[in-house]
Amino acid sequence: PSAMREVMLELPKVRWEDVGGQKKVKEQLKEAVEWPQLHPDSFKRIGVRPPRGLLMIGPPGCSKTLMARAVASEAKLNFLAVKGPELFSKWVGESEKAVRSLFAKARANSPAIIFFDEIDGLAVTRGGENDCISVGDRVLSQLLVEMDGLEQRAGVTVIAATNRPDKIDPALLRPGRFDRLLSVQLPDETDREDIFRIHVRNMPCSNDVSIKDLARLTNGYTGADIRLICREAALAAIEESFEITEVSMKHFEIGISRVRPTDVRFYL
Ligand code: ATP
Repeated sequence: PSAMREVMLELPKVRWEDVGGQKKVKEQLKEAVEWPQLHPDSFKRIGVRPPRGLLMIGPPGCSKTLMARAVASEAKLNFLAVKGPELFSKWVGESEKAVRSLFAKARANSPAIIFFDEIDGLAVTRGGENDCISVGDRVLSQLLVEMDGLEQRAGVTVIAATNRPDKIDPALLRPGRFDRLLSVQLPDETDREDIFRIHVRNMPCSNDVSIKDLARLTNGYTGADIRLICREAALAAIEESFEITEVSMKHFEIGISRVRPTDVRFYL
């Protein structure tokens, strides 16, 4: 039995313009991942090593995964995505093997990005019971071994994401590992306008739909919540009539009333 389903190689098709707001994080990702890819000679000449590991920190539904896919698409990198908890296997030794083969696959398909979502999930069993070395410890050590062994010419960048930075093992944050921290924030009003525009791109809307008003009415909502609101608005229009040709403001108001904003207090 293998520790996890074979991690699929993707070539994502997400453009920067598909991500609303998050201006600063986009810039940071471009500089850390796109530039070394597009201008390797400049980095070599000036003698600066591009970072091996980046850690995105922020509440759920705020485009961490979306931006990791966007930077992979825009820099034309292969993309391997794993959720932290997926790395556990009850079979002794299988979990470490899974981590090793993940990095081997990334090197074989370089240039590539490995994306660890919910990296905090690795810490759960750290310092386990009965003085045994827990699976969590072993997975974590193997991850550190792989990170430390990544050579620059391997062309592999590791991006991790978490909404629980307090649960991250500090060993992961040491220099040469996940030493570049990117803070992802809830969208502000202007960001929410951008996000609404992105999600209504393919939706016929009536003239009374005001994106500005929608942004004003959705203080505290995440990007994922806004996507849901747009979906609910479209459904509300269809519920009204199968003959309907446009989604109007009242449908968006219904959408907003149906979607409760993600409670992010815990994460901020
Ligand atoms: P999690 O911590 O739950 O993995 P996340 O921060 O990785 O959350 P995503 O999975 O990237 O969030 O967001 C979920 C979906 O919400 C995205 O696929 C996208 O459709 C929408 N979304 C979130 N933020 C934005 C944004 N800034 N612009 C456009 N769409 C967004």
